[in-house]
Amino acid sequence: MDKTLCQYHPAQPATWHCVPCQRHFGDCCIPLNADAPDDSPVCPLCRRELTFLGAANTAQPFWERLPQFFAYGLQASSLAFSALLALAGLFMPRSLILWSILLSVATKYFHSVIESSSEGVREAPSLMSAFGGDGFSLFIKQVLVFAIALGALWLAADFNSETIFWVVNIAIVLLLPASIIRLALSKELGAALSPDQVGEVIKAMGWRYLILCAFLFILWQSPSYVAWMLSGGLPRVVLMPIATFLFGYFGVVMCSMMGYAVFQYQGALGFAIAEEGAQQGVPENEWRRRRALAEAEIRLKEGQSDGALETLANALQRDPEDLRLNERHHQLLFGLGAYERCLRHLDHYLPLAARQNPALAATALLNARQFKADFQPADALVCEQVAGALLDRHKVREALSLLRNLHQRFPDYPHIPRAYLLAARGFAEGLGQLEPAQKLLTYIRARYPASPLLDQVSALEGTIAKLGNAGR
Ligand SMILES: [Zn+2]
Ligand SMILES: [Zn+2]
Repeated sequence: MDKTLCQYHPAQPATWHCVPCQRHFGDCCIPLNADAPDDSPVCPLCRRELTFLGAANTAQPFWERLPQFFAYGLQASSLAFSALLALAGLFMPRSLILWSILLSVATKYFHSVIESSSEGVREAPSLMSAFGGDGFSLFIKQVLVFAIALGALWLAADFNSETIFWVVNIAIVLLLPASIIRLALSKELGAALSPDQVGEVIKAMGWRYLILCAFLFILWQSPSYVAWMLSGGLPRVVLMPIATFLFGYFGVVMCSMMGYAVFQYQGALGFAIAEEGAQQGVPENEWRRRRALAEAEIRLKEGQSDGALETLANALQRDPEDLRLNERHHQLLFGLGAYERCLRHLDHYLPLAARQNPALAATALLNARQFKADFQPADALVCEQVAGALLDRHKVREALSLLRNLHQRFPDYPHIPRAYLLAARGFAEGLGQLEPAQKLLTYIRARYPASPLLDQVSALEGTIAKLGNAGR
């Protein structure tokens, strides 16, 4: 099954689906509200409730998680399980009842590993849970499945044809994992033997099911291989518990892998479970803001530019001082060529951006000048701040135009010396025009003899003098 992606962000996997709109959304488009975790999110376009896709498109493929499966078997509870098997193998008397109980416990434990892994739980089930009531019936069902497989093999051997025997052998190796998974999930013998239900598991995974079988086959061989390697040097009394322990450990690893494969292919198997810790909500204020930004982007990409503007305008009514919302609103108005609305919004946005992020204010000013060549901010401090940001971007002429005649435009502005010092720098260093720079410095000296900036004025005059001599 191929992964479905966010309709609007093709690099992001889809986690939500709107059935009426036929749109898939990723977490990128659907922020979650941590202050109301039970609210199910709605479609940004039609406001109807979204269908959760779980980790169907986000789960890491099982073949990339091999170390995690081996680590799974090393958790305290699963190690305790393997140790229990080893001790029982060593000390338990040869009694059919006792051994049936032990194998029931083992079957129950293996099946709970498959079940909880299929639900995305990373913690191994507790050993105590294996002593639950339905262990024996599960064991009998599992034994029946194995018995049928062995019976088929025995029948095939009867044909005296090596081809038939191997075909049946391989078929059993390939079908058993899916059948065990079915039994673990539904706990019904009928499901484990039903070609439809077993086939559904295989179909959901496609050819990757073969990878799963290959891994399981290798894991299945591992305990006997390790025991065989050790068999040379160790007495039987030591070897037996080691082999049983390894059987338990590798069994848990195999079951966690089978369970995870179900989790990974949950979409194709028809259920939706989130990965542990994957769904992180944000506080309500941040959530509103992110939701508005995502919705505006979605509406714009759907060609609903009026809807996008409305979304942002509504969000701005609630949070008029939010820089990011204002910036998006400005970009949208500019991009749509909404001349008047854009200039009106700048009255509010420009001072805000000049305070918080002058570089954004510089961009906004350059945008505004494309609409209105002689656009000037209505505030002297904003002029000065934006001019500074424009100078940083080497937009010298635009910067100087903001500072021109500042003392006449804003006679009460207290920072004229600072602004004109900035302008003088722009003339001298940005444009190489020493004369107007010197004029501005002279003006500062004459008008503001007590200004604390006179040191900097002298320093700049020194630079101008040097530049002047070098130019001569
Ligand atoms: Zn998205
Ligand atoms: Zn919808």
